Amino acid sequence: MSLKHKNDIFQNSSKAINGSFVMFLDMNSYFASCEQQRHPELRGKPLGVLTYDSPNAAVIAASKEAKIFGIKSGMRLGDCRALCPQLITTTTHPAWYRQIHVDVMAILRSYCDDVIPKSIDEAVANFNSYRLVYDDLTEVASQIKADITAKYDYLTCSIGIAPNSFLAKLGTGLQKIDGLIVITPENIDGYLATLKLTDLPGIATNNERRLKMIGINNPLQMRHSSPALLRKAFGGVVGDYWHRRLNFAEVDMYSRAENRTMSATRTLSRQQSQNRQVLESMLISLCTRLEQRMVKSEMFCREVSFSIRYKDGTSWDTTVKLAEPVQDAMELISYIKERIADYERSHHLQALFNERVTNLTVAIASFMNGRVMQYSLFDNRMKKDTVRKVMYDIKEVYEQNNIVRKGCELIIPNVMKDAVGFGSVKDMIVKKNGEVKNRHLLEEDKPGQRRMAALKKKPVVEQKEPDYNDILPNDEWEGVSLLQGLQQQKSKAALVAKDEYYSQSTPL
Ligand SMILES: [Mg+2]
Repeated sequence: MSLKHKNDIFQNSSKAINGSFVMFLDMNSYFASCEQQRHPELRGKPLGVLTYDSPNAAVIAASKEAKIFGIKSGMRLGDCRALCPQLITTTTHPAWYRQIHVDVMAILRSYCDDVIPKSIDEAVANFNSYRLVYDDLTEVASQIKADITAKYDYLTCSIGIAPNSFLAKLGTGLQKIDGLIVITPENIDGYLATLKLTDLPGIATNNERRLKMIGINNPLQMRHSSPALLRKAFGGVVGDYWHRRLNFAEVDMYSRAENRTMSATRTLSRQQSQNRQVLESMLISLCTRLEQRMVKSEMFCREVSFSIRYKDGTSWDTTVKLAEPVQDAMELISYIKERIADYERSHHLQALFNERVTNLTVAIASFMNGRVMQYSLFDNRMKKDTVRKVMYDIKEVYEQNNIVRKGCELIIPNVMKDAVGFGSVKDMIVKKNGEVKNRHLLEEDKPGQRRMAALKKKPVVEQKEPDYNDILPNDEWEGVSLLQGLQQQKSKAALVAKDEYYSQSTPL
């Protein structure tokens, strides 16, 4: 058997590692700094990056200057304005962020050949096989920072160095902008003593509650607890992992857990949630996005979950275990809609898709590889799977990804705007001409001169969203004319707020 990828090798270890030879790099205020990098007039100013221009939009990234006002990513624009009336906004330019990501990774790889990007602005570098090459990683880290600044003078990063990747990542969170921290067996307790349980990446309120229930109240106590006690808190082997993480063993570096779940999420404006058809088309685009990923990775899922979040903080969710592995977006939708209909019928409620919806998420799990799939003898599934594959192959060959679309993708023009992968960068490809593209998305980010020009004229972007009733399909919109219509209508309807893979067991 040949090893195709580093991930195929299991290099995590249960033993404590001597010396601090793992480096974690986290770019500071990444999207905002990228914008300030190419638009010097935005430097030194509070800047919020939005996925789409709307008073209801959420800021997905805040500049260093905006953070001083208390602005955090995920905040609604209105709340940000209340904290900082002079906040400037711009929309995202994913192609630019990906380009810088590739350049930063190249800098890291010029020092170490074992670099694993963890997200668009984070990477871990394993220097364990360079123990004879570098005796002091802090010098290497300073050099890496200098190399990044030489190429992009406004970008800074935080670097953590530790015996394992978890502690190295923890190190990046312990410091200010442009920092560098080395965690060692000698100083770790000092750092942990300053932290709360939820400061540990991967510990959320649920885990915090379980830990406190058995008497573990802070990270320091957690590190000095026995594996048995931690197993009790986490309900199994995950407890062992936590013991090892905090005691210098490596359990996260080559984890393949990121494929255990794939999810796609959209946040909706008030106006969008008014229109049931818009909500349904969002569901289609979320499922289509997951379908694209599954086709590309030759995977099928056997479980789909769907959740709706409402304005008042309540939510509705459902999980469907699938009898047969599924890849097709429309099939996923039919299962979800069936559940919605069942629920609405049995509870005599108003529609689950209503004007109070703020967020839709579809997640798929329990994957199996398409190459080892057994097809039932008498259905046309195999044919459909082949057609789907051919469609995506055509999209790839013609690069212009909009050239072929399924009928179901055509409900709202350009609803599938390019998105920045927050969680994973696995979808990224570098084309022959050096351009960096997101492999699975239908539409590429266009150079944003127009938007930036508008920004310069009026720093506060207060644009109205398009009226969806104007762009919903009607009888004239069929076949080719519809496709042309799509290309002409570059509406700002798209609002991919967040789209990510996330892993359940690894905190990295
Ligand atoms: Mg960052």
